[in-house]
Formats: sequence, structure tokens, C-alpha cells
Amino acid sequence: MLKKFSHFQREANLIGGKWVQADSGQTLDVVNPATGVKFGVVPKSGRAETRRAIAAAQEAFPAWAKRSALERSKPLRKLHDAIMDNQEALAELLTLEQGKPLAESRGEVGMSAAYVLWFAEEGRRVYGDIVPSPWADRRILVTKEPVGVIAAITPWNFPSSMLARKLAPALAAGCTAVVKPASQTPYSGLAWGVLAEEAGFPAGVVNIVTGSAAEIGDEICANPLVKKITFTGSTEVGKVLIQKASVTVKKVSMELGGNAPFIVFDDADVDRAVDGAIVAKYRNSGQTCVCTNRFLVQSGVYDKFVEKLVAATASLKVGNGMEDGVKQGPLIDEGAVCKVEELIADATSKGGKVVAGGARHVLGGTFFQPTVIAGAKSDMRFSTEEIFGPVSPVFSFDTEDEAIAMANATEYGLACYFYTGDLGRAFRVMEGLKYGLIGVNEGLITTVEAPFGGLKESGLGKEGGREGILDYLDGKYVCIGGLGL
Ligand code: NAP
Repeated sequence: MLKKFSHFQREANLIGGKWVQADSGQTLDVVNPATGVKFGVVPKSGRAETRRAIAAAQEAFPAWAKRSALERSKPLRKLHDAIMDNQEALAELLTLEQGKPLAESRGEVGMSAAYVLWFAEEGRRVYGDIVPSPWADRRILVTKEPVGVIAAITPWNFPSSMLARKLAPALAAGCTAVVKPASQTPYSGLAWGVLAEEAGFPAGVVNIVTGSAAEIGDEICANPLVKKITFTGSTEVGKVLIQKASVTVKKVSMELGGNAPFIVFDDADVDRAVDGAIVAKYRNSGQTCVCTNRFLVQSGVYDKFVEKLVAATASLKVGNGMEDGVKQGPLIDEGAVCKVEELIADATSKGGKVVAGGARHVLGGTFFQPTVIAGAKSDMRFSTEEIFGPVSPVFSFDTEDEAIAMANATEYGLACYFYTGDLGRAFRVMEGLKYGLIGVNEGLITTVEAPFGGLKESGLGKEGGREGILDYLDGKYVCIGGLGL
């Protein structure tokens, strides 16, 4: 039977197979960003609840790790099916708490399911090595085993799929998990608890706590039972977690911020570039880590590109993500709108020209007009800061070398895009860009089959692809001697 979104909207934490409230009884409000209306509450848990969740994960670990990879893949496959059977309800829940258009939420939920299926399969392909031995009477094995209890902390912009990339490989590898979803979008995270129970995961394998980020984070970092932290969020918080995790020398995977350049060369197909630009910029109202932060356009096509981008933004219908045809929802909160306004004011004070949008939308609340700013310059704040909103600053350049230098002039190294019709240039530029993800004549490149992850201050480790399970495994070298061979 098809379930409604309310079935997945749990106002409780999952610890050791039980749905529980915070010890203090306190709660956090969850607000629908499209309406500003309170949508529900979740427990405001802290250190004590997190400690219990970690203990429950530790208790569940030996039996889960001992299962064969095939046995672990079975509930993962059920989990995949349960997500797809309930795609619509889960998408509605996501849009109601996060604001993105329903079509994007459906896509995100589908992506979550795809990660689960991918890692259900990858878990069965965790191979070790037999290494040629330098000794005649000894043999060398390299084996892999699950690290133990892992903790996953996730952001509000992709509350379902960011968790899928962590939970699915962790569970497939034989780890157990404590999850802390973002406070603004906790229900899509808590829904994983409902789904995991229904798919038959034993109690304690998946635990979910909501509440005080600092308290939950501190317990996760300090607790020696947690062997790995996997985090997606801002570089600022990621750095704090890396430092705190060093006290107990945990493994860390970090998916952090970005400052994606989108380069358009004179020889590019400009219409294709504009299509790519729309998806690489305005998806999720510009609130993705791989969203274009800076358009770098060669002088010969600059005016043409700006004109076509402006025309394309006019077709983006802004509104409540639950309504048909909406292409851009609200921003997550008032703080996000203020940041966008500040960045636009900074740009215009330094000579930038608003050629589309530039202000709050007539719908009010946190809706903002899709915006394009021509005449962007390197002293403007969005050269170095993540915009996280629907604003396209368009910079101009003359030469290929200049474009590469401008693109790399940031401490971030997550995603970048470039458009060219010249194959030689495609290789030169690709090799010159210091980024973990590169789209060549493509503006949307994430897929479960490929390794996702940033370089420089954008992160450590990869999610998805063959590589995505490796961070949940410890390698062991075993030397077997005295064989008398
Ligand atoms: P954020 O403020 O860093 O928060 C992310 C998560 O960390 C939330 O669950 C948050 O909890 C928690 N948190 C905050 N302070 C913490 C602390 N001291 N200890 C432990 N946990 C803490 O980031 P955000 O604003 O939600 O997300 C946007 C950022 O994520 C952007 O920079 C974006 O680029 C990045 N991002 C990166 C990727 C990627 O794959 N590289 C993907 C998506 C997003 P609360 O919600 O309770 O504060």
C-alpha cells in the first residue's frame, strides 16, 4: 500500500531500535521555508542521547559485521525498493521541509535509492590482495574489514541523498551508524530510520539523533567507539570536526564547500552552455555545493552569453515547490537571503551591473529572483565566497591561460565546468584545473557510478563510484610465515 509522507515524518529519534524523545523533553521546530509555517518538531537531543546511540551501534556492530556481504546486501536491496515504492511520499516530505521543487525532490530520492542499490552490489566486491612475497616460506595477504561504528553528519540542501552516500556504503561494508541530520531538514534523515526498520535492518545498526549540533558533534568526536566521521557541510564546520576528531585519531571523510567556475570559451556552443548554466546554477535555488559560483566567459561571446542567460532565467518559474511547473523554490532561511543581498550590494558598489533579477521576489518570504550580474570583477566577494543562492556573476577573460588561472584562484576545488568545441583545448583545460569534479560541455554530472569529492579545502575522500566504500574499510596486512616451502 502506498504510504503518505506523514508515515515518514517521525518526531522522535531512533536509538537501539526504539523511537525516543530527548532526555530533556525539549524539541526543535521544523519550518516549511515556502510558507514560513511550522511543520512539526523533532527532539533536541544532546551528548547523553548521542552516547547511547553510539553504544547501541557498537552493540549491533559485531553481528552485522559478521554477516556475509551477500547477507548484508539483501536488506539494502529491500531498502532500495522501499525508497522507490515511496518515492512520491518521500519527495513530498523533502519539499515540505527543504523547499526545492517536487520534481527535484523526486530526483533526489531516486538518486538516494540508486546509491543504495549501487553499494548493495559494491559491498560484494570488496576484494583484498595476495601480494607476491619476497620470501619463499612466507605469504602475504591484504584484507579489508569494516572500520566499526561510523557517524554521519549531513546538511540541509540534500537531506536525503547526502545521507544515502554515507549510509549505503557504511552498511554494505559492515559498519553500523549514528546519523545526525541537519536541524532545518531532519525528517528526510529520520525517514531513513523508518525505511531501515521496514527493510529489516537489526536494531542498533542505524541510529538517528537530532538536536544540538555542537553537543552531538562533540560526543561523536570525543567518543572512542566512533571509528570514522563522515561529514557533508561547510568547510568551516568540517575544519572544526577534523581538529576535534584528531583527539581519538578517527578516519574522516569531508565533503565541504565549493566555488565552482563555469568557463565558456569563444568556440563553445553558446546555447548548450546556457542550458548547462541554468542547471548548474539555479538547481535547488543555487543552494548546492556544485552550483556555479562564477561564470567566466571569453570576451568574444560575453555579450551573447549574458543576453541568452538573462532570457533563460526569465523562464524560471519561482514559487512553492509543491506547485506544478515551479523551477525555483524559496531559499532555506532569512539568513540565506540576507547573504545574497549583501553579495549583490557589494558587487554593484564595485561596478557590477544587475541585468536580471537582483531583489527579493514578490512572493515575499525567502523567495528571491533569479539574478544575473554582468561586469563581475575579482575584488567582488563572490570571487572567494560561496553564494548559495540564485545569483550568476559573469566575469570576462581573454586567454585560455587566464581562464585557468582565474578558475583555480580559490582555496576550494570541488566542481567546475567548461564549454569548448576544441578537443585539444578540452584536454589542456581539464589538465589545468585543480578540481575533483569536472564537467566538459555538461552542467550536471553527479551519478552514483562516479567518485564524487573535492580537492583542496573542498574535502577529503570520495563518495559514490568504486571508491565510495573504501573509507569505511580498514586494510590489514597479514604475513604468514613458517610455511616450510
Ligand atoms: P553546515 O552549517 O556546516 O552544517 C552541516 C551539518 O553540520 C548540519 O547537520 C549541522 O547541524 C552540523 N553542524 C553544524 N555545526 C556543527 C558542529 N560544531 N559540530 C557538528 N556538527 C555541526 O552546512 P550547511 O549550511 O548545512 O550546508 C551547506 C554547506 O554544505 C555548503 O558549504 C555546501 O557547499 C556544503 N555541501 C557540500 C557538499 C559536498 O558534497 N561537498 C554537498 C552538500 C553541501 P545543524 O543543522 O543542527 O546546525
